[in-house]
Amino acid sequence: MGARIIDGNAVAARVRERVALEVAEMGPKPGLATILVGDDPASAVYVRMKREDSARVGIESFHHEPGGDVSANELAELIRSLDADDRVHGILLQLPLPGHLDQDEFVSLIDPAKDVDGLTPTNAGLLVQGREEAMVPCTPAGVMELLAEAGAELEGARAVVVGRSILVGKPLAQLLLAANATVTHCHSRTRDLASVCREAAVLIAAVGAPRLVTADMVREGAVVIDVGTNRTDDGLVGDVDFDAVRERAGAITPVPGGVGPMTRAMLLANTLRAAKRYSVVRGAKR
Ligand code: NAP
Repeated sequence: MGARIIDGNAVAARVRERVALEVAEMGPKPGLATILVGDDPASAVYVRMKREDSARVGIESFHHEPGGDVSANELAELIRSLDADDRVHGILLQLPLPGHLDQDEFVSLIDPAKDVDGLTPTNAGLLVQGREEAMVPCTPAGVMELLAEAGAELEGARAVVVGRSILVGKPLAQLLLAANATVTHCHSRTRDLASVCREAAVLIAAVGAPRLVTADMVREGAVVIDVGTNRTDDGLVGDVDFDAVRERAGAITPVPGGVGPMTRAMLLANTLRAAKRYSVVRGAKR
């Protein structure tokens, strides 16, 4: 019969709609500051899309584009000024930064309450502690929405995450753990990846290796989420061999049109959340 295909565009549209409705009711609008350093064309496209997404839901955007030769002091000063700016509720520092700038150092300067990418050590720590106030990175947050859409039963289920990056794999494993899944975390040193993956009721591939996950690695009826985006001669493909795996899986996300749109939508949801929390904290201080 084949798997149910989970349409990330449709789920993302619902998230955007929800955000737009709430933003429409708000006094001062949520504000998202974007910082693009240097002239990487892919980064420029991502930032432009994020600003367009913001405008569509009524989030104000404040764009900063210091040149690629910006000094560490100047960039630090810019981030500090945005941390202090009441109109800005979310700060997005587009990565990668040019080589002379230490990414970790600059991410750490972002106020954790405005860290809508969820990349500061504070937010990573809050997530590990299972604290509700953690700002969760957008891609893993989007994967959790897709799992809900797929009707995946996480409580007590065997979930396998392939990939352990700070951006995707690690936070995702924490979210699944918090949802009471039994999580196995795989990476490039995992032995017999295929048999580990076959255990999974929920299988998430976040690797960056085209069609690494083949049908023989998937349990019949599993929910398969493909985070991978790989540019190949055949166009954009995921980490999952979609055509073959869909014959075995219960539900599967396509590439493109699965996780990608969710990542964009969750940035808006995180910005709204940061703005709402900001107004509560500010109200309490008055
Ligand atoms: P990353 O930082 O390169 O991490 C890749 C992970 O995969 C590492 O943990 C690595 O293991 C593991 N790995 C590599 N080869 C493997 C193998 N043969 N078997 C098992 N594990 C292997 O990548 P990332 O930033 O997490 O991104 C992963 C993929 O998701 C990429 O294709 C990226 O483009 C995509 N992505 C998509 C979105 C979206 O919105 N759709 C967002 C973010 C990322 P080690 O740790 O042992 O090296």
